[in-house]
Amino acid sequence: RAAAADLDGVADHLGVGRLTDHRRIEEAARLANDHLLSQLGENQRLQLALQEQATRDPLTGLFNRRYLDETLEREIARAIREGYPVTVMMLDIDHFKRINDTYGHLAGDEMLRVAARLLLAHARQEDIVCRFGGEEFAIVLPKMPLETAAQRAELWRCEFEAERVVFGSFVLQATISIGIAAFPGNGRTRDELIDAADHALYEAKSEGRNRIRMAAALAVPAAL
Ligand code: GH3
Ligand code: MG
Ligand code: MG
Repeated sequence: RAAAADLDGVADHLGVGRLTDHRRIEEAARLANDHLLSQLGENQRLQLALQEQATRDPLTGLFNRRYLDETLEREIARAIREGYPVTVMMLDIDHFKRINDTYGHLAGDEMLRVAARLLLAHARQEDIVCRFGGEEFAIVLPKMPLETAAQRAELWRCEFEAERVVFGSFVLQATISIGIAAFPGNGRTRDELIDAADHALYEAKSEGRNRIRMAAALAVPAAL
């Protein structure tokens, strides 16, 4: 006991007891700080997730129509300022309803995911690939003239035709039709461009599907 009392005395003398308290306070402060930081991180993560939800289609991970509307407007404004073309494509899977009706909705979903991956695989960094709705996709290609875009569309069409979608014991295949319109030759505003591409897509469908069609040129072309 005498030895223990001696040690207490030494500790007091050296200030070790106080040092331990100080450490405890430091430790508590560190924990509180860590907690705050992790909450801050969590808030940022939540905010990012919300932003993603607002601009992305959950099934395919592509941008959604809302994002397309905002960006196409911005891209046209930039194209006017900097004087370059912008191409818009509307793509629609042919007879998609048959896939759903024959193999089920989940098989259709898998085909949509595969289509999205394929479109992304041949898109440039600056291209905006969107799920427009249902089995319809829209792609904005900044700084791409109509002729180059037509080659790209043909690549997407061929690749999609060659694709085999494995779903359970089934192997599915489909084709895609594409309508193409470019600023400023086929439309001057976002809505004009989307309408022009959509109309060209309709023509590709009515002419037999699995093909690409260009929009008609504006009667009075817009100046760049
Ligand atoms: P067309 O060649 O003229 O484009 O014919 P289609 O059968 O592809 O076109 P239609 O518009 O008749 O059918 C589209 C179908 O897409 C109907 C709808 O149930 C289905 N669809 C829409 N969204 C989804 C989805 O998220 N998943 C699945 N599996 N099907 C979807
Ligand atoms: Mg379709
Ligand atoms: Mg459709």
